[in-house]
Amino acid sequence: MSTLFDEIKPYMDKGMAAKAALTLLEWDQETSAPPMGAEWTAKIIGELSNVYLESMVNDDVKKKLEKLHSEKEFSQLSSIEQAIVKEWKNVIKQLEPIPQNEYQAYTELVAKAGNIWAKAKEKNDFSVFSPCLQEIVDYKRKFATYRKKAGKDRKIELYDILLEDYEPGFTTKKLDEFFEQIKKELVPFIQKIVKKSSKKNYCLPKAKYDIEKQREFCKWLAGYVGFDFSKGVLGESEHPFSTNLHNHDVRISNHFYEDNLESAIFSIIHETGHALYEFGIDNEITMTLVGFGTSMGMHESQSRFYENIIGRSEKFWKPIYSKLQETFPEQLENVSIKDFIHAINRVEPGMIRTEADELTYSLHVLVRYETEKMLLSKKIEVKDLPKVWNEKYQEYLGISPDSDKNGVLQDVHWACGDFGYFPSYALGTAISAQIYNNMLEIMPIEEYLESGNLLPIRDYLKEHIYQYGKRKNTNELLKEMTGEEFNASYYIQYLKEKYTRLYDSNEK
Ligand code: ZN
Repeated sequence: MSTLFDEIKPYMDKGMAAKAALTLLEWDQETSAPPMGAEWTAKIIGELSNVYLESMVNDDVKKKLEKLHSEKEFSQLSSIEQAIVKEWKNVIKQLEPIPQNEYQAYTELVAKAGNIWAKAKEKNDFSVFSPCLQEIVDYKRKFATYRKKAGKDRKIELYDILLEDYEPGFTTKKLDEFFEQIKKELVPFIQKIVKKSSKKNYCLPKAKYDIEKQREFCKWLAGYVGFDFSKGVLGESEHPFSTNLHNHDVRISNHFYEDNLESAIFSIIHETGHALYEFGIDNEITMTLVGFGTSMGMHESQSRFYENIIGRSEKFWKPIYSKLQETFPEQLENVSIKDFIHAINRVEPGMIRTEADELTYSLHVLVRYETEKMLLSKKIEVKDLPKVWNEKYQEYLGISPDSDKNGVLQDVHWACGDFGYFPSYALGTAISAQIYNNMLEIMPIEEYLESGNLLPIRDYLKEHIYQYGKRKNTNELLKEMTGEEFNASYYIQYLKEKYTRLYDSNEK
């Protein structure tokens, strides 16, 4: 126990409380707040962000953190306290260079931007969102420049600074290498499979799937995968997402379409994967700076592990497919499990990232990664986005979006100011394959799935990833779990094996 640490702890408690309140407001805005409230609620969000900022970054905290970080004091701290001190210093590094009034104005701007984006998407008109997005981008460039000036590394790219917020340790250089590997090894493979898939694709029957029944099935499915309803809430929003106040209050949302059963099923598995991570965090670090998932990429590895690697496998569906058939007897009566598995794994380059198949998914992220880098380095401006976007879709996926709604306006992230976030989706997907490879070696994972016993899988992930929260970073966790740091070749190997099996063999 350190008395100095005890002196700064109340600041963290207050900061965490403000953060929890902000999370709840964000959840509310996405799920149930009335549209006319947004403008006014944005003011509350601005004020609360200030409370967070003042609690986490002030002279008293900075002075004491410096002392705590000195060798003598640091060695007296418990390992959890050490992790908090390190994380706190990171938070200060991110926030301190930004003037408070600008930070508050920016938070108010993004609190309103979601509604403007939604309106633009509804009207299918990028120009409705464009001025607001330009303002956000200007702030992002300005904040990254402040941080660059405050840091020691003069050569660092502005985009690297944004990446730090989501994926510490993964720089533009590392991501360039990762995406190059995807371009070199996956793009030609995908093109080959796409040619074959156009002849072999099988889709679920085009029919209406009653939304109330979908809702019921998805709720059951979330529980089957491991969602704990005593600590979690299921909601509905335009865009499925997950968030959490702490590890005892985790919220996930879904969206239902009457003519699309797969969308809701795989969204719920995905978001449940996120929720399991947060549920699994050790109670000793609840409501502390390290009491959350370690990075966006690691988080996404968990959601996509469940959604794709587990959730699109035949072994997963074996014990539960009959339940889905019973829920939709008219539509699925004549769809065998083999056909169902083919349908949910069909390859089809499309315009929408969230509806993308597992194989082409990372190409959607590649488009956003390259576009964001160009935007940050001022190679392009916001007005150029639709054109650049459409060209890149043509280049990598061989299709051109038919509208802004299905193109550059499809994702909400930029309206939230989340630049540098998208790479985490591809990174997480690749990490999930590395983790799966490790699990195959040490446990009969397929037997567990076939017998409907998902608990050992969850327990293993909790033991090696979840419990630590932010106490360990992505590469530390991977190294301890799999024996090596991030390695994208497992992902490429996994996709090649799976899709060769599905499409290159003679059977359907
Ligand atoms: Zn996700």
